[in-house]
Amino acid sequence: MSAVPVLQTRGIVRDYESGGLFGGRRVVRALKGIDLSVERGRTLAIVGESGCGKSTLARIITMIDAPTAGELLIEGKTIDIRAGVPKAMRRKVQIVFQNPYGSLNPRQKIGDVLGEPLKLNTPLSAAERRDKAMQMLLRVGLGPEHFNRYPHMFSGGQRQRIAIARSLMVNPELLVLDEPVSALDLSVQAQILNLLQDLQDEFNLTYVFISHDLSVVRHVADDVMVMQMGEVVEYRPRDAIFAAPEHPYTRVLFAATPRIDLARIRARLAAKSARVAAAG
Ligand code: ADP
Ligand code: MG
Repeated sequence: MSAVPVLQTRGIVRDYESGGLFGGRRVVRALKGIDLSVERGRTLAIVGESGCGKSTLARIITMIDAPTAGELLIEGKTIDIRAGVPKAMRRKVQIVFQNPYGSLNPRQKIGDVLGEPLKLNTPLSAAERRDKAMQMLLRVGLGPEHFNRYPHMFSGGQRQRIAIARSLMVNPELLVLDEPVSALDLSVQAQILNLLQDLQDEFNLTYVFISHDLSVVRHVADDVMVMQMGEVVEYRPRDAIFAAPEHPYTRVLFAATPRIDLARIRARLAAKSARVAAAG
């Protein structure tokens, strides 16, 4: 059985037009023909400096925004946003942003935040939705006492757990994670990365993981795509690219990255939770 990639793009272009106040329209080509492919259960990391087009690509992959040209395929099916995307297709691709607070309604309790995607996408009853929301809340490492709390009562890391839980409520195939840990403290970053890894294994999820932080990328990626000014300059398996970055831009990017040892932090956390488990 040769598998169809969960995600493919072919020649994706995205232009932004800025209407000049004094006439003269300017076109910014934010994406200049992006080709990529991600198999089920794998993680593609996209790296590059601010402004290189990562979030623009994320919005196109998640069908929030249409490309100017090029083709997006989900599970081998061509997506045409302008023609309308069926709900069943939209459900398959979910996004998690850097700052979940911006996407959480401050007046909505967490249980309702998690139940809402089910309300929109499934025929489940209110009781069934509550049940599933509670299960997911526990699955991402929060407690039953959090069910009736409001977003402002949570830490940044907890909010990111909530955003991840919400994205998983409709059983997606593909998660696009746009700088999901960039706003968090290092130890919290490691916890969230561990959680994402566990969830990926459990649900056989496919990830597009966007980050400007190579120490994070090194730990999550199967493949790494390096972008510069809307173009892919290097796209190879993680070990190959970290062992010997080929493109001059990749080398500059890699040289500029401080080596924060997430592996050590993760090992420490694993040891700690093993101790806690043994003690309990
Ligand atoms: P990144 O996520 O890598 O920081 P973005 O995708 O946000 O980059 O932006 C890529 C380029 O497109 C930048 O030059 C940015 O200014 C431009 N851009 C992004 N969104 C818009 C928009 N809505 N209108 C006009 N230009 C935009
Ligand atoms: Mg961005």
